[in-house]
Amino acid sequence: MEIPSPVGDCDKVLSKMEEYAKELGYAMTYDNKSTGYISIKGLDDSETHLVTTHVDTLGMMVKSITERGELTVVELGGLNFSSLEGETVDVHTRDGRSYSGLIIPKSHSVHVFEDCRSMKREANNMIIMLDEIVSTKKDVKSLGICAGDTISVRPRYEFTDSGFIKSRFIDDKAAVAAVFAMLKHLHDNDLKPKYNLILTFPQYEEIGHGGSVVPDEVSEYIAIDIGLVGPHMESNEREVSIFAKDNQGVFDKKLTTKLVNLAVESDVDFSVNVHSYRYGSDAGAALRGGNDVAIAAFGPGTLCSHGMERTHIDALNNVVDLLIAYVLEK
Ligand SMILES: [Zn+2]
Repeated sequence: MEIPSPVGDCDKVLSKMEEYAKELGYAMTYDNKSTGYISIKGLDDSETHLVTTHVDTLGMMVKSITERGELTVVELGGLNFSSLEGETVDVHTRDGRSYSGLIIPKSHSVHVFEDCRSMKREANNMIIMLDEIVSTKKDVKSLGICAGDTISVRPRYEFTDSGFIKSRFIDDKAAVAAVFAMLKHLHDNDLKPKYNLILTFPQYEEIGHGGSVVPDEVSEYIAIDIGLVGPHMESNEREVSIFAKDNQGVFDKKLTTKLVNLAVESDVDFSVNVHSYRYGSDAGAALRGGNDVAIAAFGPGTLCSHGMERTHIDALNNVVDLLIAYVLEK
């Protein structure tokens, strides 16, 4: 959770995952767009299934440096700037340095600005004040900071005694964790998936094309991503949401029904939901990439998506149980 991984800048988190995978006896490889892959031979060679969880999180990029030494930003993914106000962010330079800063609206103080409360929290109205002694553009440039540097937001992860996980970027790091819990289960119990299994970890989901590349042999493509919580949905923070539809289309009926049946047989707490308002996942990216695959998706019910998110450990356990049932097909 603590390793920054804004869209397209995920080397650090992928190398940490590579370490964990190695401990469990699995190797990670990469394609040209730096998606991580773990391939596991199944008991039955006749099919290859793919499970994807994206490692990128919402982030920003430095748009420009003002004459007063503030940074202006563009968003990478669907940020909710109201939820970002006052957060600590980190700016990552091309030469590997990082600097912290404070993200605030241009009218940032009730004592100073008439429009402090009314200013719309959107990219054009937000600035980053670096936690450095800088007052000019030149000062900032001398730190090595340039337009195009990526910006991450501190997640403020918290795990409560009652089992809630409160953090930014539960989307989709919770799903990545679930995949590793499944791998640990296979490793500890000396199990093999029923069919050949490819796990992928793309880093451009939040801007829409992460999972668009799919190896030819894949017939089933499952995205694990956050389930939404809100009106017109049955999902909650303690269950798995199995998606019937999102904003990008309808999920494969046969594959989705297979997941529903596996959930019932494995005593997984779940609900089937339509997450059709502005929500997409890498499963849609796979279809738009022209791949001949059946798609489905599920994930932990998560409150306040793309803000300070919250889910419950029960939801994650349910996700892991469904994932294990899917890869073992029993
Ligand atoms: Zn996501």
